[in-house]
Amino acid sequence: MDRRSLLKFGGLAAVGMAAQACAPKAAAKPVVTAPTRPPVRLPRVNAAWDRVIRTTIGLRPHRPSGFVLKADKLDSKTLIHNFGHGGSGMSLSWGTASMATDLAMAHTERTAAVMGSGVVGLTSARELQRHGFAVTIYAATVPPDTTSNMSLAGWTPTSGLVDFKIRTPEWDEQFRTAVRIAYRRLQLLTGPKYGITWITNYAPTDNEQAVRGGNVLMPDDITNPRVLLQPGEHPFPTKYAIERPEMRIEPSIYLDALMNDFLLWGGKVVIRKFETLRDVTTLGENLVINCTGLGSKALFNDPELMPLKGQLTILVPQSEILYSTSGGARAPVTPDAGFIHMMPRSDGIVLGGTSIRDDWSLTINEDERKRVVDTHIELFNAMRGMART
Ligand SMILES: Cc1cc2nc3c(=O)[nH]c(=O)nc-3n(C[C@H](O)[C@H](O)[C@H](O)COP(=O)(O)OP(=O)(O)OC[C@H]3O[C@@H](n4cnc5c(N)ncnc54)[C@H](O)[C@@H]3O)c2cc1C
Repeated sequence: MDRRSLLKFGGLAAVGMAAQACAPKAAAKPVVTAPTRPPVRLPRVNAAWDRVIRTTIGLRPHRPSGFVLKADKLDSKTLIHNFGHGGSGMSLSWGTASMATDLAMAHTERTAAVMGSGVVGLTSARELQRHGFAVTIYAATVPPDTTSNMSLAGWTPTSGLVDFKIRTPEWDEQFRTAVRIAYRRLQLLTGPKYGITWITNYAPTDNEQAVRGGNVLMPDDITNPRVLLQPGEHPFPTKYAIERPEMRIEPSIYLDALMNDFLLWGGKVVIRKFETLRDVTTLGENLVINCTGLGSKALFNDPELMPLKGQLTILVPQSEILYSTSGGARAPVTPDAGFIHMMPRSDGIVLGGTSIRDDWSLTINEDERKRVVDTHIELFNAMRGMART
């Protein structure tokens, strides 16, 4: 914000405070506190159609009753399932990987096969190695050709994960254990090697109650500090903005780093597609961890598994953008009209917000692309007092 805008907002703030001091209290109306903090200064995202460099599609592996984490038998083999993380796999994978490894420790052998090389397979493989297993990954595709590479990928441990009405107390317990482990693990991996950083997220809103947030699934000990920025304290075209710290994962850096760690620890990778369960039984290993994500539907005949189609449109990178946004300049016209979010990364400014249930197509949905890009253009063009960078 330039000096003139600062003075203007500062002046308005002073007027606001004076007016508030004199005005009688209106009992039923929400209290709007005058700005007390200096206005947040943010460089503006250059959102424009001619800045689009690519659009990507990924199918999130969603199960209405949540991920599957359990040990099973396949002929004489022990088969441990770890799949169905919806829109939360980048966030939760260390948690379910650690829990899958606990199940694997019951086996007498210390050689394991991991099926799948997305984030769930790679973290499972690393956890097994850390516990003394010799591991081979078998996967049809490896990074960058996995759904995990198509992720936005913020700390979103409950996104597209479970339908709240049909979850069980046992699953809730598994989730809470997973989220605690994963949150701590990701924190310890922050830094350039794994491409994980903390940035500040802003959610523009006209609803001051939105700051309460909260999610019944989340354990109480996972804190999520939020601040409601008052009018004049933020540059967004809404009355308020919610400010909170957010963990950002750069998928291409992160997944490559996990793969490198796996190989450094003596892991082997075999490119192989399993067409049927019979194929799985031919594996040399007697302990198999299934991390095939959406592939588990056909392979293990899971009736619940379905895609939540995601689509990201990426703009030319802007290294000065060190904040993310959730939501647009206005609330969606209808609740199902969609949400938007922006995540800055070294490989581009990522614009997302698409989640289409049970859509298996890998073609670009032009209506969604237009909605997501246009609503971001509207948001960033309306940011106050900021010079276009
Ligand atoms: C647009 C978008 C945004 C997202 N944003 C976030 C976010 O902000 N935060 C977050 O936490 N998560 C996010 N996610 C979700 C996250 O990306 C997924 O939950 C995660 O990638 C799932 O990982 P996975 O390893 O189970 O699956 P995948 O990455 O799909 O890996 C599956 C692996 O199994 C292999 N495989 C499958 N079938 C077979 C077979 N028959 N034979 C052999 N190999 C097979 C594949 O080749 C691949 O190697 C997002 C996803 C999308 C698409």
